[in-house]
Amino acid sequence: MPNPVDTLTPRLRAICGDEGVITDSTRRRTYESDGLAYHAAQPGVVVLPDTPEQLVETVRVCAEHGVPFVPRGAGTGLSAGALPNSDGVLIVTSRMRRIREIDIENECAVVEPGVANLDITRAAAPYGYYYAPDPSSQQVCSVGGNVAENSGGAHCLKYGFTVNHVRGVRFATPQGELVSLGGKAVEAPGYDLLGAFVGSEGTLGIATEVTVRLERTPQQVSTVLAAFTSMDAGGEAVSAIISAGVLPSAVEMMDALSIEAAETAVSCGYPPGAEAVLIVELDGPTPEVEAQFAEVVALCRSAGAFETRTASDPEERARIWKGRKSAFAAMGRISPAYIVQDGVVPRTALPEVLRRIGELSAESGVRVANVFHAGDGNLHPLVLFDDSEPGATERAAEVSGAILDLCIEHGGSITGEHGVGVDKACQMPRMFSPADVRTMERFRAAFDPAGIANPEKLLPTPRLCGERPGVRKTEHPLVSDGSAELF
Ligand SMILES: Cc1cc2nc3c(=O)[nH]c(=O)nc-3n(C[C@H](O)[C@H](O)[C@H](O)COP(=O)(O)OP(=O)(O)OC[C@H]3O[C@@H](n4cnc5c(N)ncnc54)[C@H](O)[C@@H]3O)c2cc1C
Repeated sequence: MPNPVDTLTPRLRAICGDEGVITDSTRRRTYESDGLAYHAAQPGVVVLPDTPEQLVETVRVCAEHGVPFVPRGAGTGLSAGALPNSDGVLIVTSRMRRIREIDIENECAVVEPGVANLDITRAAAPYGYYYAPDPSSQQVCSVGGNVAENSGGAHCLKYGFTVNHVRGVRFATPQGELVSLGGKAVEAPGYDLLGAFVGSEGTLGIATEVTVRLERTPQQVSTVLAAFTSMDAGGEAVSAIISAGVLPSAVEMMDALSIEAAETAVSCGYPPGAEAVLIVELDGPTPEVEAQFAEVVALCRSAGAFETRTASDPEERARIWKGRKSAFAAMGRISPAYIVQDGVVPRTALPEVLRRIGELSAESGVRVANVFHAGDGNLHPLVLFDDSEPGATERAAEVSGAILDLCIEHGGSITGEHGVGVDKACQMPRMFSPADVRTMERFRAAFDPAGIANPEKLLPTPRLCGERPGVRKTEHPLVSDGSAELF
């Protein structure tokens, strides 16, 4: 049977040119997964629009033919949110990397969706400004992907997630219309559709332009790395810092296994014998940072830190961050395969949840390394396994699911910043009631009644949890029963 995308290809070439359409099987394989490589599928066709107009036209053609499309930025996602459909179009924004405007008077930047996160800071730095959300993948991940995932990063404790930094989005609806939400102005009346678009994982349309808030570069940044002989002692230091009324810009923790991986991969030189390291960073006006930094270092020592290293210039700071920033990738040095999990618990539940993760690991024999944003209660357990060993993948997936259950039991959530994607869609009913999920489906269908925008992602569908994948050929059931209408 011919692939439905074959009929579209000539029209896509007419819109994006030969260089913007990939049909060759080997080249399509480059795009078969995001950073969570154990979900993979070859896209029917890959389209790389160069301009917003080309992107909107591409979506319009998909809508006309009822063919599903999946947006993709840099493909660093960790929830298989950009997993392609084999009978669909993968729309990649990597050619749309123009920074359209750095507007210092209004403290914002207007950028195309394919711009890498760090490139905004690079462009704003000469004016004394920067872009605050900083996923560890910031050198490569795209702003469009950050908006779709409501991405976080080490500095979200003080500055908030992407949603707190997006002022406006222009996007192609799943019907191929160009719509603007928000803009340079700080507030708009009515329902917060912009807030809803942020974190919608490509299910409400594709961002073609994003207006982000810029922050003044802080006068002073100071960082301390504190080494402890136990995770509990590190946790005590975190509680003591927060209880003292200090709001660090970052509080990151790594356990012994993560330190071992980072040492093996990048020789970060963290203190030998550490069972836990804490990285605490403060920023702001120099007198305030200096006063609070001394207090933070003292609090780490009184919680049991056997060594503290401080940094107040960018080179020293980069050395401290090196191990933490490379921790995910470093796992490859100590394990043939691993699952990067992402869950959140209230900060006070961290010690108990970490202890339970340790027990789960001991009971199952599956090693789990922990690297996390301790200040936010955002955990990133890395579940290690050998995929060549029979049954090991399933055991790791089981432990990984049990960790999410722990997060829910402790009043947390199944994702802090990596999104739901395909990977966790079936876990949404563990957190939300059927009525909650149905309300979300109705919201989604208001934008996408035909169900062609990033299908099978974010919300569980019978199809995802067992039915054969493929585009819906009939009207969305919520539209037919009158409970949703076209946006
Ligand atoms: C080493 C490493 C470290 C990471 N660290 C962090 C971290 O600290 N914090 C964090 O939050 N995440 C982190 N991530 C995850 C990932 O980088 C983020 O989720 C990032 O936002 C994904 O951006 P991307 O451009 O790669 O998006 P993709 O992976 O290409 O896509 C992600 C999702 O966004 C959708 N999408 C992409 N572009 C658009 C668009 N223009 N319009 C609408 N939808 C779109 C896709 O359909 C998909 O659902 C890390 C990943 C890696 C590999």
